[in-house]
Amino acid sequence: MNYISTRGRAPVLSFDDVVLAGLARDGGLYVPETWPQISDQGLSTLRGLSYAELAARILAPFAEPAISEAELTMLCEDAYRGFDTYPDPAPLRRLSCGTYLLELFHGPTLAFKDFALQILGRLFDLVLARRGERVTIIGATSGDTGSAAIEACRDREAIDIFMLHPKGRVSEVQRRQMTAVVADNVHNIAIEGTFDDCQDLVKALFSDHPFRDRVRLAAVNSINWARIAAQIVYYVHVVRRLAENERRLAFVVPTGNFGNVFAAYGAARMGMPIEALIVASNRNDILTRFFATGTMEIGPVFATLSPSMDIQVSSNFERYLFELHGRDAGAVVSLMQGLRDTHAFSVAPARLEQARRTFLAARCDDAGTSETIRSIYETEGILIDPHTAVGVAAARSAKVARDITKVCLATAHPAKFPDAVEVATNVRPLLPSRLADLLSRPERYATLGADAGALRQLIDQTLAAKGITQ
Ligand SMILES: *Cc1c(COP(=O)(O)O)cnc(C)c1O
Repeated sequence: MNYISTRGRAPVLSFDDVVLAGLARDGGLYVPETWPQISDQGLSTLRGLSYAELAARILAPFAEPAISEAELTMLCEDAYRGFDTYPDPAPLRRLSCGTYLLELFHGPTLAFKDFALQILGRLFDLVLARRGERVTIIGATSGDTGSAAIEACRDREAIDIFMLHPKGRVSEVQRRQMTAVVADNVHNIAIEGTFDDCQDLVKALFSDHPFRDRVRLAAVNSINWARIAAQIVYYVHVVRRLAENERRLAFVVPTGNFGNVFAAYGAARMGMPIEALIVASNRNDILTRFFATGTMEIGPVFATLSPSMDIQVSSNFERYLFELHGRDAGAVVSLMQGLRDTHAFSVAPARLEQARRTFLAARCDDAGTSETIRSIYETEGILIDPHTAVGVAAARSAKVARDITKVCLATAHPAKFPDAVEVATNVRPLLPSRLADLLSRPERYATLGADAGALRQLIDQTLAAKGITQ
């Protein structure tokens, strides 16, 4: 498969190049030239595969010829063996109301991001070993991405990873999942500033071209195509399990960057029978407003109980805009120009109508989130995390036909957000036993001011001390 940019002015890349590439050179995002198709007959042959085999089968058309299905099978087997519920890393649970929860939080760092990052870390390894190259990954995190990326890259020969988090502004569990990792190639840095300061530092280092080339800087953020491809797998997994009995399915996806729900859209484009996608937002409801009005308008970011969705600009939405406009890169360029210049853009009424044939959107504020956590505990006896609760609330309010079965994505383990869960239920969720001592493990991290020069120096010194650069 070859990959093209949503803005139409960047070189066409192969899969191995796209794994290492961040943003396309024209500012766009890479997408596959075509959507591979899974036929009805194909679907029945998928039923007998393990999750890892299914993942390899779905990823193969995206990765070939750079990487073969046999290589992918080994890679996926290795990636999903580390999940607590292996061999089924994504168990489905039926609630008494008939709605399903798809539990995506049994990976090493207890959020769905492990599904893609455990694959991506290994793809990096494979591609770099083949080329005899190495990379320095730098990222900024407000929570779940940092720990999932660190866990995926730890102890990998060809990678050093520097992860910035805003000092004192991530939850204790989230911080310790990063800083308690003992590995020579993992470097945590607490920045005296906000998440935006961290992101600005990352951008500053990426735009310092001599530095960027010297240390071979790479990124792991959610615009990486391989992350989307790996997330398509669990939607196909649900369809193959449920489609025989539950003929009409809708997925409910708690959304921030539009990455996870775009993967669901991808599964539909690959031929999976999916009736609707319900986009669930917290108080940061830019997407809900878009699907109501056709206008995307950037507002302020509010802190909520579901912090991994406290985002205004959903970077992956550009991929959907590209599809919605019949893959017209010129249309995407002018919408994105509008977003930059006026902090807003609108799509034509016919486009909005088309979008609404697939997507529904609903928002849920903190009070509703808390109430949903409480009521699910009361009626089902289970604890759900605040992100999952935003989805469950959206599932309850979304108006879809009665014969459509809803599948809500449970994106994080409740113990990742123990305070919010305890306030709602009076029960403090416990970490899985392998992490029971997390809060007493020693932490290791550097602290820096929000200063690009100091950060560059720290990275240079660290790599030089390891003999990687001079
Ligand atoms: C990242 C994250 C989300 C949002 O996912 P997107 O792909 O950015 O839409 C939702 N829930 C949790 C727990 C997350 O970590």
